[in-house]
Amino acid sequence: MASPVSQARRIVVKVGSSLVTNEGRGVDAEAIGNWSRQLAALAAEGREMVMVSSGAIAEGMKRLGWTSRPKELHEQQAAAAVGQMGLVQMYETKLREQGVGSAQVLLTHGDLADRERYLNARSTLLTLLSLKVIPVINENDTVVNDEIKVGDNDTLGALVANLVDADALIILTDQRGLYSADPRKDPQARFIDEARAGDLALEAMAGGAGSSIGRGGMLTKVLAAKRAAGSGASTVIAWGREPDVLLRLAAGESIGTALIAGTPKLAARKQWMVDHLQMRGAVTVDAGAVTKVRDEGKSLLPIGVTEVQGDFARGDVIAVRSPEGQELARGLANYSSAEARLISRKPSSLIESLLGYANEPELIHRDNLVLV
Ligand code: GLU
Repeated sequence: MASPVSQARRIVVKVGSSLVTNEGRGVDAEAIGNWSRQLAALAAEGREMVMVSSGAIAEGMKRLGWTSRPKELHEQQAAAAVGQMGLVQMYETKLREQGVGSAQVLLTHGDLADRERYLNARSTLLTLLSLKVIPVINENDTVVNDEIKVGDNDTLGALVANLVDADALIILTDQRGLYSADPRKDPQARFIDEARAGDLALEAMAGGAGSSIGRGGMLTKVLAAKRAAGSGASTVIAWGREPDVLLRLAAGESIGTALIAGTPKLAARKQWMVDHLQMRGAVTVDAGAVTKVRDEGKSLLPIGVTEVQGDFARGDVIAVRSPEGQELARGLANYSSAEARLISRKPSSLIESLLGYANEPELIHRDNLVLV
């Protein structure tokens, strides 16, 4: 089977601390240079690349002269703050050498769980991609605590894949991929080339914890693949030092373990909209907007909205109804119900003067809208 990465247009690549810092020896210029060269080449092919990089705490420990990972949270956070500087500096330098712009994005769990912040993070990342800038993402370790942290960057990579609607997630690690058992202990252990993401048998196979440097083990990677599959992204787990690993995966070569998403991307997103969120309100639209949204696949603009029902906030899922009252679509509102009432029937160019600010020109962007 060809790698699922070959068909992917938007790809999230996650690299772990031990690769990034060469087992804790310090930010590995050569490794980051190598990935940057590949990211640039794939971006030049028209693919949209997002990097999720660990290594802040490991690099911070090195810079502070600490030989073992501190137990105290505030010390880990201090190390992350110190190390993140070195980390992004290296990505910035190496990507710039390839003629590609980069941006630092630090996220917390709260940014992804709260729907308004989720939409903001999503808009920003999609804007960066449209500007052909490669976002380099890490958890905002300095401000999180145990209750609110994502905790490991495998999970963060999957959440980012969900956030940007990625087609594929590539998790680069210090192992070749997933085995049916621990190959160091079990001579019968067999390499898994391909499986279905979310298959419970994989969780039993992955077992155990990760390296002493990073947070995640194979289990967090298998669970991340399941999460990424929730929005239709397939995952590949591969060895980060494999030469040209990203280019070869994109060319279709099977490297590492491919965990294939069972549901196609659109269906997964639609399912999520239809099943998982309660609707807080609705808008009725005119016949022109029905044609645009239903037949032409366009976004819903405020000008087509004739009535706003209910009480919803930015980021809530709302229904879109035809003039006859039939539900034709659902989507994430870019404006609250109060704001929507003020801008309905008005051209988007007036949003700023009506509200004093403008988030987006659409009430519901096409990417956040599904026909029902
Ligand atoms: N965010 C942490 C760091 O950059 C890494 C978490 C992980 O190892 O998964 O140091």
